[in-house]
Amino acid sequence: MKSNNLRTRRPVARSLVSIILFSVLLLIGTYGCSSSVGDIEVSDESQHRTKVWLLERYQQIEHPLLSELFQRSLERLEPGVQSIASQDKRTKEPRLYVISSDEITAFSLCDGSIFVTSKMIELTPSSEVFMAIIAHEISHVIHQHACWTSEDKSAELTKEIKADSDAARILYVSYINPHATLQALSLYYRKFINADAKKFIITLDERKKSLSRELQQYPPISSRMPEERLFRKVRHLVSGFTKSSRNR
Ligand SMILES: [Zn+2]
Repeated sequence: MKSNNLRTRRPVARSLVSIILFSVLLLIGTYGCSSSVGDIEVSDESQHRTKVWLLERYQQIEHPLLSELFQRSLERLEPGVQSIASQDKRTKEPRLYVISSDEITAFSLCDGSIFVTSKMIELTPSSEVFMAIIAHEISHVIHQHACWTSEDKSAELTKEIKADSDAARILYVSYINPHATLQALSLYYRKFINADAKKFIITLDERKKSLSRELQQYPPISSRMPEERLFRKVRHLVSGFTKSSRNR
């Protein structure tokens, strides 16, 4: 990202960039799924161009704390990720990119890149909710949702519902409260209510009731836990970074 662009960007240019970004997101299939009739495969070249464009347009925030948080989150989510793992050998290794932007969004590319904006991290209340966002994107990566694009809106919606339900499952199997998924969804400012994901989480709650009393409660992630401490440091780091690039 060239910081000069940030400095001179005017509100109109800013909203133009937002529109372009969201069009690109729609095209590359943030909301994407395995292929069906009418789907178009996104070529590696076009994915690469999108990634280069994003990294030129938006400043990437790189810091050892971010890598550590992502690594720890992946380790913590591993049992859940295994539960939805695809047999498809083409599944890519997820990699996190945090970009400096006032947009509130997260999305993934076909090559396993997961993009989260600094604003979204700033608004994320806890490490549990952060992991819900990552789990949602991991579902897109595993099911190669971004490798296919469709003009059919309902097909795109199906992909989102799948990723939301998968996120709840990943959290549940990893012994993290799946309600964090619903909190994460509210951060996306969705225009639709994901009734399927809600129903799915209620089913998980019902299933929990049949377990012993000790297992009925999800252990809350306390502020003393390494993930939460790390997440708070990252949120502080990212918000400082966004403010300084905004004021330049
Ligand atoms: Zn999604």
